[in-house]
Amino acid sequence: MTLDTRLDTFAGIGPQRAKALKKLGLETVGDLLVYYPRAYEDRSKIYSIQEAPAEEAVCISALVAQSPTTSRIRKGLSISKCKIVDGSGAAQVTFFNQDYVRQALTPGVSYIFYGKMETMGRHRQLTNPIFEREDKARFTGRIMPVYPLTAGVSNNLLAGLSLPAVEACAGLLPDQLPPDIREDHHLCTQEYACQNAHFPAGQEALAIARRRLVFEELFTLSCGMAFLRSRRAEVAGRAFPIKPVEDFLPLLPFAPTGAQRRAMTEMAADLASGKPMNRLIQGDVGSGKTAVAAYGAWLAHEAGVQTAMMAPTEILAHQHFETLTKLLSPAGIRVGLLTGSLPAAEKREVRRALAEGDIDLIVGTHALLSEGVEYRDLGLVITDEQHRFGVGQRSALASKAAIQPHVLVMSATPIPRTLALLIYGDLDVTIMDELPPGRTPVETFLVGEDKRARMYGFVRKQVSEGRQVYIICPAVEEGEGSDLKAVTAFAKELSQKVFPDLRVAFVHGKLKSKDKESVMSAFASGAVDVLVSTTVVEVGVDVPNASLMVIENAERFGLSQLHQLRGRVGRGQWQSTCVLVSGNRSPETRERLKYFCSTTDGFKIAEKDLELRGPGDFFGQRQHGLPTLKCADLAGDTRTLKEAQEAAQALLETDPELKEPAHVPLMDKVKRLFHEEGDIFN
Ligand code: ADP
Ligand code: MG
Repeated sequence: MTLDTRLDTFAGIGPQRAKALKKLGLETVGDLLVYYPRAYEDRSKIYSIQEAPAEEAVCISALVAQSPTTSRIRKGLSISKCKIVDGSGAAQVTFFNQDYVRQALTPGVSYIFYGKMETMGRHRQLTNPIFEREDKARFTGRIMPVYPLTAGVSNNLLAGLSLPAVEACAGLLPDQLPPDIREDHHLCTQEYACQNAHFPAGQEALAIARRRLVFEELFTLSCGMAFLRSRRAEVAGRAFPIKPVEDFLPLLPFAPTGAQRRAMTEMAADLASGKPMNRLIQGDVGSGKTAVAAYGAWLAHEAGVQTAMMAPTEILAHQHFETLTKLLSPAGIRVGLLTGSLPAAEKREVRRALAEGDIDLIVGTHALLSEGVEYRDLGLVITDEQHRFGVGQRSALASKAAIQPHVLVMSATPIPRTLALLIYGDLDVTIMDELPPGRTPVETFLVGEDKRARMYGFVRKQVSEGRQVYIICPAVEEGEGSDLKAVTAFAKELSQKVFPDLRVAFVHGKLKSKDKESVMSAFASGAVDVLVSTTVVEVGVDVPNASLMVIENAERFGLSQLHQLRGRVGRGQWQSTCVLVSGNRSPETRERLKYFCSTTDGFKIAEKDLELRGPGDFFGQRQHGLPTLKCADLAGDTRTLKEAQEAAQALLETDPELKEPAHVPLMDKVKRLFHEEGDIFN
């Protein structure tokens, strides 16, 4: 058996199963070895019949006392029974519809049974246990891997394949970590890691194996990001002529904040440098990033090239299109809109205008990435709310330009420092840490069901003062037995019973985009008083007249998400309020929500979120645009992450191209890790 041995050569793997395995990405032994368990089942401790604790699955070693007998209860139901004994006592084993056990269990032979022991007085019973001959035990008496599965692939099937594969080939996997890094960081070998990740010798061995795999993964990722960054420094870009910001500022209806000015200056310097810009502007919600983007588009126009601005949702694309048209058309900049939901004829016209240079700034969604979208001369790519776009998507858009374009990334998601370098490792960062003047921080309250009537009164009061209100629900439609507030039903209830005299509308992700748009623009124009919504309004939506954000079932949202939602209010001159409604009484939940009430500092909230949920969640949501991680998807890896990053940086300082022979396997792995993000290393 080698790493290339195909799984369909294994006994019991016919075309059907091979196909199912392929769905999991498993074709060869090598694939199997890096297909890690998602969890483990500890079957390592073996109990006697008497000592076996009740109500949890355990292993019991015992002799089969007599041949199982099978009785047919009715059509489709048979029961097989036998008695097992050991030095401590006896138990009955019952199997439903498993007639084969009559042949499989031989009297006088010792087996290990794995199952839940039930006790009724002195009577002990095991139902449908897994069993193996003790002298040939493979899946009992040890810690068992629990693999991610798909239809037609059981865990036993996978474990039955991976056990011989690991035994024969764990040592054949190339070790991608350079030896000195392994030693410096006290990491085990690849072979040990592989063996113990699949079939751990014990909990400690599992921890050691896991640490190595997590380190390796984060290290590889860090190398990739650092590599992208260093390589970019060598590419030539376009140098935009320098234009004073004073020529642009009259287009804005306000004076820029200090932070906006700084961001504009840094961006202008990048654009004039002759190297492709790759800058992230990280500014809390409402800090005014759009104006900075507008300046970028203006500079590009002055340089005679086009700008593409990509937003993660249609709602946001529309909003940017409107804002930027207003700001920039007085300067003669022609702004266009391209989203997936445009009628085909309009799309065609926009594509033509882009290719011929009749549009200077195109705002859109992913549609900007699609085939057939060509530019006359694309010089600047702006992506808004970047965490929703991958590294690969960023570069896919950039590849639509003849010369490497400048890239500006804007994000309102404060990322804890520990993760920022990893997620934005290939970018230069500007932090906008100042809000436009006249904003009063949003006041936040946590209330229970008992205060609902008062809360409705407060909604009414805001509306009577001319303000508007968001009410966020965690679900779209009511589910069976779920007590989560659902948008459609709740909006109906509010408009019919609670606020029959107010203008209530609702929006959620499942609506057609035309409908979404018309609701959003009605809300933006003030024609709707109360907007009931899912988190589709979470990102970027700007309606300064909205002064109250009510979040139903607040316990269902993560801190960072709550922060995004709260950022939808407090954008105008009015004192704004956020009300978290939650009937959840668990102390952890209350502590979390109370913490949220106590601060509006996005970075602090992000740090707390990381602390409470672990980096697994940041990675898990897959909003960061990084390659999928297989191992690091676990809570509590923050320390390993830091260590891996430092190691990667140190290594790339000595060998920036990863060309030394000891680093070639690592470079291969970097390329493979980023593979699904497109060929960004070529
Ligand atoms: P974000 O950083 O969240 O994208 P926006 O660019 O949407 O923020 O700006 C939020 C709101 O603040 C908008 O209504 C915008 O017009 C306003 N704004 C931006 N900059 C300033 C400023 N310097 N002074 C006053 N208002 C501003
Ligand atoms: Mg924005």
